[in-house]
Amino acid sequence: MKEDYYEILGVGKNASAAEIKKAYRKKAIEHHPDKNPGDTKAEETFKKAAEAYEVLSDPDKKARYDQYGHAAFEGGGFGGGGMNMEDIFSQFGDIFGSAFGGGGFGGFGGFSGGQRRVKGSNLRIRVRLALDEVANGVEKKVKVRRKVQAEGVTYKTCTTCNGRGQVTKITNTILGRMQTAATCSSCAGSGQILDKRPNDSDAQGLKVVEETVSIKIPAGVEDGMQLKVPNKGNEAPGNGIPGDLLVAIETLEHETLKREGDNLHYDLYVSLSDAVLGTSKEIDAVKGKVRIKLEPGIQSGKILRLRGKGISSLNGYGNGDLLVHVNVWTPKELNKEQKDFFERMRGDGNFEPKPEKSDKSFFEKVKDMFS
Ligand SMILES: [Zn+2]
Repeated sequence: MKEDYYEILGVGKNASAAEIKKAYRKKAIEHHPDKNPGDTKAEETFKKAAEAYEVLSDPDKKARYDQYGHAAFEGGGFGGGGMNMEDIFSQFGDIFGSAFGGGGFGGFGGFSGGQRRVKGSNLRIRVRLALDEVANGVEKKVKVRRKVQAEGVTYKTCTTCNGRGQVTKITNTILGRMQTAATCSSCAGSGQILDKRPNDSDAQGLKVVEETVSIKIPAGVEDGMQLKVPNKGNEAPGNGIPGDLLVAIETLEHETLKREGDNLHYDLYVSLSDAVLGTSKEIDAVKGKVRIKLEPGIQSGKILRLRGKGISSLNGYGNGDLLVHVNVWTPKELNKEQKDFFERMRGDGNFEPKPEKSDKSFFEKVKDMFS
């Protein structure tokens, strides 16, 4: 007498579809012929489980089986002979998906994904940025030559794999018949092939066009960084998804401003007279011109910090500072009158160095900057 389908799978009569599927999957993996080479009992169990699942996973067949038992299928369908391996694999291939994904198990490697969307290739460009563009962010328009689907191109279901994206092969080995699945070479796994294409397109129905792409570059980027503009690479044929446009950032050196993180450093040279008498100076900074005041008697080496006048932070929080380094320029040559003046001042106590606590030494300033 034929075994009860529920008993074969080890589930109750009220089992849900999910429970039936889970039970079958467990049985199938356990008794899989690849795992039990030469074991005819395992193969028999494997086939029985497949047959049971074929009925119990189909609501219509299940209802008939529940009402009439095995008698429901006598004389038709798969009768008493059970199913052969090809039937089992072709009908239930999908159930092995997650169990054998990744190709690590016998002939089932290819069942992992089924149809897949082909991705177009990425395009790479390089963008050069001046310091003020880095400091404030900028929108760059660049011309790229990318492949797009030509107008009028149509695709149809791949006849080699019937749109599955995969082909299965049965081979005879010493362990018996083995089934392997591989990505369909006719459609590269997309399930679609070219139907009609205009003359100016390539074999995949793509053609190269020049397109202007707008790239928003945030403030604070650094040399060598790479930005991604999604979907602006080459398009893929059929239902594929476009590749990305990868933008390599190159930053240009500034003539007078040196970058250190989000801060900028500027060397300001002032005359001896300006240092003694005090003055105000205008600096061309990245966020426009800034004016700074130099108090009379400013010391060479003093650093003036202009908050927020540096580079806007890449993470969007705040701005770096502009650090102005004061350098007092000492004249190398003097005329007679000037020389006389300084000779007179040489003995003057007011010209003697008298560093105060507030006049930090060079080493203390360096320490402050990095703390
Ligand atoms: Zn195909």
